[in-house]
Amino acid sequence: MNDINLEFNDVSYAYNEGENKLQILSGASLKVMQGEMVALVAPSGAGKSTLLHLGGLLDRAQQGEINICGQATNSLGDRARTLMRRSAVGFVYQFHHLLPEFSALENIAIPQMIAGKSLKEAQKRAQTLLEILGVGPRSSHRPTELSGGEQQRVAIARAAANSPKIILADEPTGNLDPETSTLVFDALLTLIKEHKSSALIATHDHDLARRADKIITLKNGKLVPIKL
Ligand code: ADP
Repeated sequence: MNDINLEFNDVSYAYNEGENKLQILSGASLKVMQGEMVALVAPSGAGKSTLLHLGGLLDRAQQGEINICGQATNSLGDRARTLMRRSAVGFVYQFHHLLPEFSALENIAIPQMIAGKSLKEAQKRAQTLLEILGVGPRSSHRPTELSGGEQQRVAIARAAANSPKIILADEPTGNLDPETSTLVFDALLTLIKEHKSSALIATHDHDLARRADKIITLKNGKLVPIKL
């Protein structure tokens, strides 16, 4: 059994800006194991979002390989990559992007129904996820009736709805106060451990990063461990 959920092997990536090349990754390697949360801490503009896009198969490595649950992805066609993204990856953003006209429960049930689950099954799992994340009693509320921290926990539940092996989060607590950030971060950590999935989280927050299993940064295009 392969217990590496996400792996970057010598990945390079650059943006072309006219004559110039903006090299973001240059031989970057990373392993995110099952049950593991890895925090990516780097200054703004260093390439965190680019890295998360690559890991989520929203973009392709220009060199090297990205494996998801042991499967190489670079040579896959667009359709296979989309299917893999849908089944294996969940995204959480700084701003939750919940659907305003639906309840918390519905926001989490909808992606499951799109993936083929029955309404009943989808609702049951949605409620379970909300309970794990500590927002069970808020399930019938619409996003505007929830606090920022509650909204973000619903967004995490939605990302986890179809049991992805990898959750990729870009500054998921970026707009929350420190206390709420800790609550949200710990909820995500609990989810990862309970479901044996994994998470790669870009964050500026050093206190939160220290709660992760591993902390990495981007240095000269490579991913290197750091201590904070
Ligand atoms: P971070 O998430 O760490 O703030 P990004 O991955 O968003 O960093 O961006 C890394 C660098 O690449 C930045 O200098 C940014 O301006 C540049 N960049 C991002 N997207 C593009 C793009 N589509 N084309 C050209 N440059 C880009």
